[in-house]
Amino acid sequence: MDFRSMRGFIFDLDGCVYTGESLVPGVRELLRLLRARGRAVCFLTNNSRQDSAELLAKLVRLGIPASREEVVSAVEVAPSYVRERYGPSRLLAVGSNTLMRLLGEAGHSLLAPAEYRKAEVVLLGADFDFTYEKLTAAARAVARGLPFVAVNMDARMPVENGEFFPGCASMVAAVEAATGRRPEVVGKPMAPIFQEALRLLGVPASHAVMIGDSLFADIEGADRAGLHTIWLSTNGDARGSNSPDFTIHSFSELQGRL
Ligand SMILES: [Mg+2]
Repeated sequence: MDFRSMRGFIFDLDGCVYTGESLVPGVRELLRLLRARGRAVCFLTNNSRQDSAELLAKLVRLGIPASREEVVSAVEVAPSYVRERYGPSRLLAVGSNTLMRLLGEAGHSLLAPAEYRKAEVVLLGADFDFTYEKLTAAARAVARGLPFVAVNMDARMPVENGEFFPGCASMVAAVEAATGRRPEVVGKPMAPIFQEALRLLGVPASHAVMIGDSLFADIEGADRAGLHTIWLSTNGDARGSNSPDFTIHSFSELQGRL
């Protein structure tokens, strides 16, 4: 792959731009170089807890200049995904306060766990207040055959020192175990979120590169959407069957190629 002909670069955030509160070494210099050469840049995350404004604040705090239009978060794509497919819905949603707020703003109504029988759609995002009551409500609603949607299928949310929080897929697995049903997925590796990033970049897939640390979410998903791929192989998620176009172990390996 000739990177010099690439016009847009899409960066995964967790594990690729930062890990917890630490920047990934070399990423600031790489972003500065790409911008200086006139390349379009955006950030694409499966985050199910923070919207683009919150993520932008973190980028700026860590010394990465960006604009809100350059940040695509699955938590913001999920409400419109549900609306496009099912219309404004009565939702049994499990997830962050940010997800709940965005669902309300998108015209959906939110049900308490005890009201699961009134649900039209079940939506799962990573929830730091996940309880047996929420699991029971979600499983019973999904068992009734309702549309079952997950913000992403990330197994882990990485934090510093190699530690992690269980991701959305862990909650989905609990519901799946009780129901035998698998969800529709909004985030990477599915196409809709990559299309949104390409639209923001204003670049066709054939001239765009996805840089990510998850073979499953970033590389397999981007490959399916027709983008070129660079895999940052660290301690990230190594599930996935696709081979990236290019594999690096640190951003310094891209020096002289861009
Ligand atoms: Mg990642």
